[in-house]
Amino acid sequence: MFVQVTVNLPLKNIFDYSVPQHLEDSVDVGKRVWVPFRNRVIVGCIININSNTNIRNTKAIKEVIDETPLLSDDILRLTHWMADYYFCSWGEAIEAAIPSPFKKGKTSIRTKIAESDFLTSEHPDDLVREDMLTLHQNKALTEIINHIKTGEYGAYLLHGITASGKTEVYFRAIEAALKKNKTAIVFVPEIALTPQTIERFIHRFGKDAIAITHSRLSNSEKFVEWQRIKNGEVKIMIGPRSAIFSSLENIGVIVVDEEHENTYKQEDVPRYNLVTTAIKRAQITKAVVILGSATPSLESTYKAQTGIIKRIELPERIKGSDLPTVQIVDMREQSRILKRRPIISKVMEDNINRSLQKKEQVILFLNRRGFSTFIHCSKCGYVVHCKRCSTALVHHFDRESLICHHCDYKTSLPKMCPECNGDYLRYFGTGTQKVESELHRLFPNARIGRMDSDTLAKKTAHFEAFKDFKSRKIDVMVGTQVLAKGLDFPNVTLVGVISADVTLNIPDFRASERTFSLLTQVAGRAGRGKAPGKVIIQTYTPEHYAIQCALKHDYDSFYEQEMVFRKQLKLPPYINMAALNLRSKKEQSVIKTAEVLANMLRKHNKADKMIIMGPSPLPIYKLRGYFRWSIVVKHSDALTINKFLRMCLGRWKVPAQVKLAVDVDPRMIM
Ligand SMILES: [Zn+2]
Ligand SMILES: [Zn+2]
Repeated sequence: MFVQVTVNLPLKNIFDYSVPQHLEDSVDVGKRVWVPFRNRVIVGCIININSNTNIRNTKAIKEVIDETPLLSDDILRLTHWMADYYFCSWGEAIEAAIPSPFKKGKTSIRTKIAESDFLTSEHPDDLVREDMLTLHQNKALTEIINHIKTGEYGAYLLHGITASGKTEVYFRAIEAALKKNKTAIVFVPEIALTPQTIERFIHRFGKDAIAITHSRLSNSEKFVEWQRIKNGEVKIMIGPRSAIFSSLENIGVIVVDEEHENTYKQEDVPRYNLVTTAIKRAQITKAVVILGSATPSLESTYKAQTGIIKRIELPERIKGSDLPTVQIVDMREQSRILKRRPIISKVMEDNINRSLQKKEQVILFLNRRGFSTFIHCSKCGYVVHCKRCSTALVHHFDRESLICHHCDYKTSLPKMCPECNGDYLRYFGTGTQKVESELHRLFPNARIGRMDSDTLAKKTAHFEAFKDFKSRKIDVMVGTQVLAKGLDFPNVTLVGVISADVTLNIPDFRASERTFSLLTQVAGRAGRGKAPGKVIIQTYTPEHYAIQCALKHDYDSFYEQEMVFRKQLKLPPYINMAALNLRSKKEQSVIKTAEVLANMLRKHNKADKMIIMGPSPLPIYKLRGYFRWSIVVKHSDALTINKFLRMCLGRWKVPAQVKLAVDVDPRMIM
């Protein structure tokens, strides 16, 4: 008897081993085994059992680790597809699917039960079941539920404006699946940032039926959760993208909430995109996948246009509340009048005052944390940079330090210029902390709070700030995009965007899409209660179509205009692309390797079928001490790119000092 085994190494091969007679009864597909590999003994996973092999002198497996298969047939199929599509080994994809308590060949773990952080809330009255559905919710549900009843694969893009009742659609679709004795997986962008969504699920389905997974769970908590799934106690799994590997069986519905979010792309091996992978898992398990968003990614809308998935719209808010009115403040004009660049314009200030007088709450949004965002010597022009990255350090007032937002390098504030020793250091740029301090100056009596990834890092502080804002102990909340994610505060009537230009100026082809999406999501936080909402957007480029379309809440015209630009520049979703990212601590090595690789790709590019771009340095040229270059390969068909890269890279050996990462369907090239 022989088994085929994958190992967690960047090797594409599957390895054949013989099975000693005394282990013949215990081997099974999906079980892990200890196998001799080169001079070591490592963990492998059985993916096939055969009665013969073409390999001569196979070694024997040492030991079978699992009593029952750890990986189901579905997960094996999913990881196999993933390895092929995202350019990693099957063994690496399987490693990602192994729950962390089982890593390194472990089989069990001592457990202690811990209460989840999310079960602390009271029963707010806005969490009761909504018996009245809008016409559009009804229509959407009829179609989705009928599909669930067939037990066949289906994919839907649920495009619903903010507060249009998408969650209620998810709930009822899940109820329909549970009625058929099936289960559900719900993806949220980040567990810690979506406490309200999770509360609503718990109140609706009860915490006994739900498992919540996230990176802060300990191994023993994860083990308990895994056992609950195995015992069939869990009906609904809620988690971030890694929940795609959940061992939940008999899945009827897969929901991807806020499907446009960047956090759904994994940046390490396997570099998968959750939306694509969730569609794949739904196909394998014959489930219905629902992708929900107020601002769907261009990819998903394009998929709907080309008939790959079905788009359903929820174009009106529930409870009949109107979309907030949006006003744009031209900051060029404000700067001219005031003869300086203000953080908060007069218009914004007046509106905040009005809201405070009416005892209503305000959210101010700025997608940049810290205090000053760069430090510059006005004598010699020096900008204080990170030691390991080619990016400016950001001043964090509360920690009295300079921090790199890319690698977390931290250093103290310099007293004088490290370059010329002059004492002309000036602090420029505005982060959330500076906005907070400006608000204290302008509104000394207001209670001001802040939510960004700095406050999030202090485990409970974020949850406290969230509760304080909800219970109206805070009047004005300043924050980064952590504020934009699905939060619902009925007393917020004013949402201010301090600078729409921050995201617009990111050197990424999705900058406009991200700006439109962020502005729309942020604006959606206003006017969710009885009082009407208002949104004020400050910008130096008011004429930009991303801002103009957000002003009119007009997704369709944004989509049309952006697609013209993508078509002209041959960018996704019109074409598919893969980025070959090279990095090395030795600058010359990476430059030389990038040139060799690009030449080799061009040589194999018969009849110029592919578009090959580069090599070129990445926008963040140096990151964590690595110099970075990239080559981009484009073609209208993903499979053609895959075949081409396999042919080229299969024969090519990456030099020792250089690392190559193939990123298929990259979210951003940074
Ligand atoms: Zn200087
Ligand atoms: Zn850095």
